[in-house]
Amino acid sequence: MAKTIQAIRGMNDCLPTETPLWQQVENTIRHVVAAYGYNEIRTPIVEMTPLFKRAIGEVTDVVEKEMYTFDDRNGDSLSLRPEGTAACVRAGIEAGLLYNQEQRLWYMGPMFRHERPQKGRYRQFHQFGLEVFGIDGPDIDAEVIMLTARLWREFGISEHVTLELNSIGSLEARANYRKVLVSFLEQHLDVLDEDCKRRMHTNPLRVLDSKNPDVQAILGDAPQLMDYLDDESKAHFEGLCALLDAAGIAYRINPRLVRGLDYYNRTVFEWVTESLGSQGTVCAGGRYDGLVEQLGGKATPAVGFAMGMERLVLMLQTLELLKPRRSVDVYVVTAGEGTQMAGFKLAEQLRSELPQARIMTHCGGGNFKKQFKRADKVGAVAALVLGEQEVLDGVVTLKDLVGGEQTTLAQSEVAAQLAKLI
Ligand code: ATP
Ligand code: MG
Repeated sequence: MAKTIQAIRGMNDCLPTETPLWQQVENTIRHVVAAYGYNEIRTPIVEMTPLFKRAIGEVTDVVEKEMYTFDDRNGDSLSLRPEGTAACVRAGIEAGLLYNQEQRLWYMGPMFRHERPQKGRYRQFHQFGLEVFGIDGPDIDAEVIMLTARLWREFGISEHVTLELNSIGSLEARANYRKVLVSFLEQHLDVLDEDCKRRMHTNPLRVLDSKNPDVQAILGDAPQLMDYLDDESKAHFEGLCALLDAAGIAYRINPRLVRGLDYYNRTVFEWVTESLGSQGTVCAGGRYDGLVEQLGGKATPAVGFAMGMERLVLMLQTLELLKPRRSVDVYVVTAGEGTQMAGFKLAEQLRSELPQARIMTHCGGGNFKKQFKRADKVGAVAALVLGEQEVLDGVVTLKDLVGGEQTTLAQSEVAAQLAKLI
């Protein structure tokens, strides 16, 4: 036998046992975003590398060490997208969607980051995200958060997620804070690890979300960004908190929440869970008013988030909350001369009469016993049996595979009877 070839580490197949759960998650997401009037945008999974460098920032983990970058045959440097926002903005500018307009957009699809694979962290993973352009008030920040809260309710996981909220202010406020933070960190060089020391000069705010417990311990005494906020950002944050209070959405203000990507300002938020171990952030986002201009468009306020779909699916599996719909309701069993064609015909007729039904016809021959075994295996709740006599008489035997009853009916009456069983 030939040697088998395996999938790339950290890039997983979604097997038929898992796809029903994924489809259910995707359908719920589509339903919720539609309920808020958002429109879908689809962009390529590969972009010019400079797009991500410029949008995400050169000194971020994503750009420094996680991107899949390669040269195209004509020498252009391309990268598999590590996130969705940069491409949304690029496409929005290119198509003239952002110029003096409001846009409420969403996307869903695979992202790529070369990270160390572990539970909840993969090299190909999927994000669902929203991006809203052209609205600068806290009302839209609140709406985006309310939409996520509705999703948790739809999935029944509201009690398992917590909203963490912070404001990182304007660029100037962060520049002022940066100075005091760096002088604080300089007094604690003995505690900082190499990563933190490097970040202290390139991107000191990132030290705040260091996972090193010794570093976390000293950060308790660090100056807080909240105390350096500009007045407008402060008012924006208070406005958002008031709207969330009125909507009954609980949150915890986390002064150390800064987010890893450079393009954020003012509102930042994360939904975190304890059900997943260390990969606890299910959804992360915030405001990024500077990005459109930074990528060559006209200055446009923007807010959005991205949700890690593998983490959401893992949560639903761990909590055993979603029961995916069965993939086969009715199994058509046929044996004898001319019965297979009659079975196909009946199944086609029923697919038209009962569009919601999932009907599988037996293929591959074999006796009744073997065919009923298949019906059980695929989880059907009803079987339709066609032997030579049934075909001659224009009838069919309907067997309830759960209750066990069996009735013979005219083929024109089957749909109505089946509808009661599935
Ligand atoms: P983390 O701190 O977990 O690395 P991040 O700050 O890099 O997250 P974002 O860039 O904000 O993550 O992406 C938004 C969401 O996408 C995350 O909250 C997470 O749910 C999911 N996500 C990010 N990276 C991965 C990955 N490698 N595998 C699976 N999901 C991921
Ligand atoms: Mg990361």
